[in-house]
Amino acid sequence: MLNKQKVKEFFLNPWVVTVGGGIILLGVPGIWDLIQKKEFLTTLKTVISFMWKLIIGFLNLQLRLWWILVAIAVGVLVLWIIVKIKDRENEPEFLKYTEDRFIQWKWSWTWELGYNKKWHVDNLMAHCPQCDTRMQHDTYEIHFRCPRCGFDSHDVLQNSNAVEAVIHDNLRRAEKKEAAQHK
Ligand SMILES: [Zn+2]
Repeated sequence: MLNKQKVKEFFLNPWVVTVGGGIILLGVPGIWDLIQKKEFLTTLKTVISFMWKLIIGFLNLQLRLWWILVAIAVGVLVLWIIVKIKDRENEPEFLKYTEDRFIQWKWSWTWELGYNKKWHVDNLMAHCPQCDTRMQHDTYEIHFRCPRCGFDSHDVLQNSNAVEAVIHDNLRRAEKKEAAQHK
């Protein structure tokens, strides 16, 4: 067994001091040399460069994906515009028929394409006979009132249902007339 005295003697031994000191003196600069050695730097450089390329590559990939997405979006938009233009070209002539006079008042409306691909009358409203403003009415269309000039009427001869029926009948008659002309 080593006692304290023996340990002390061991570390004070000239040989141990010389060899140990030498190892320490040579060892530390040795590690430092290794760090400073080109090989080590080259490795470090390679690692950094690899990481850098990886990051740039990833960003490039993201950029390419981004461009592909933009290209797809533009393509879809262009297709949508073409379809819309084609639809407009194929729109029937009667879509220009958006106002008329029915017995009492002038009425105006818009055409809506339904889910069943059939056009129907929408926003049908009676115009004020005094100032041509679209009138407001109650649920049952018994009371009409002009929001601009205050024209007021309970004396209603037609409601929107009847007017819509007449609009469609007018179209039917126009079609018949057109068909007769082309015979
Ligand atoms: Zn009015």
